[in-house]
Amino acid sequence: MLAKMTWQEVAERLKKGYNIAIVPVGALEQHGPMLPLDTDTHNVYHLVLKAVEKVVEEVKPIVVPPLWCSYSWHFMDFPGTITLKEETFTKVLVEVCKSMIHHGFKKIVIVPGHGGISGALHTARYKLKEQTDAFVVVANFGTFLPSKIGKDLFKPPIHHAGEAETAVSLALGNEVHMDRAVDEIPKGPLPKYIKFDYTQPPPKVSFPLRMKEWTKSGSWGYPSRASKENGEKYVEAVTNGFATFLKELKAVDWRETLEKKYNYFE
Ligand SMILES: [Zn+2]
Repeated sequence: MLAKMTWQEVAERLKKGYNIAIVPVGALEQHGPMLPLDTDTHNVYHLVLKAVEKVVEEVKPIVVPPLWCSYSWHFMDFPGTITLKEETFTKVLVEVCKSMIHHGFKKIVIVPGHGGISGALHTARYKLKEQTDAFVVVANFGTFLPSKIGKDLFKPPIHHAGEAETAVSLALGNEVHMDRAVDEIPKGPLPKYIKFDYTQPPPKVSFPLRMKEWTKSGSWGYPSRASKENGEKYVEAVTNGFATFLKELKAVDWRETLEKKYNYFE
């Protein structure tokens, strides 16, 4: 955890060749009547810490404090949500990553804890690619869930403040008010083009969602079905997957990757 280290400890880590920095991206946005506004920040940070525990001796990645505020415009109809403009958030993310690259970190892993920021993440990673020599990866925990586990774990729709997020919040010890859980299955245009399940491929078309147009309570799915046990199964599966990914990332020769790209364009 970067925030609890001294600058000498960071320097020592770099000197020994440990050059992976992880940047978790959270949000302060509504999560229905049963989950707190910091749900994404709390969950992504604790998932990262749990995964890093599994490879701490081997990979020694440094975990940057999670960004607690990002781009949550689509939730601004719900009180308490705080958002940056998308371009401000992109700049903040790029400059946080550049600070770590400035100090000598060569591999940056951005871990988004919520949806609705894929455009900013795309811009940020390409800006960092254009402007620095670091190897920058965006890694979403959902992608580390083996589909055979995902299928049995939560019943779709798995979207926002539903069964999955509530179960993971229970497993990661955030404040959950199960007695206030509201199940809501929103109806709106072209529902078959909205991704409802971690095991589904991304939809072929997409459109922006202003969430209040879809959900009154702020929930989307079946949070009342959430169990701590299923949350723990999810946490175990995705932190194992992310830990394996970190080992693979450590083994990547980033200069070799760069060379291959130049060869491609020759
Ligand atoms: Zn969330």
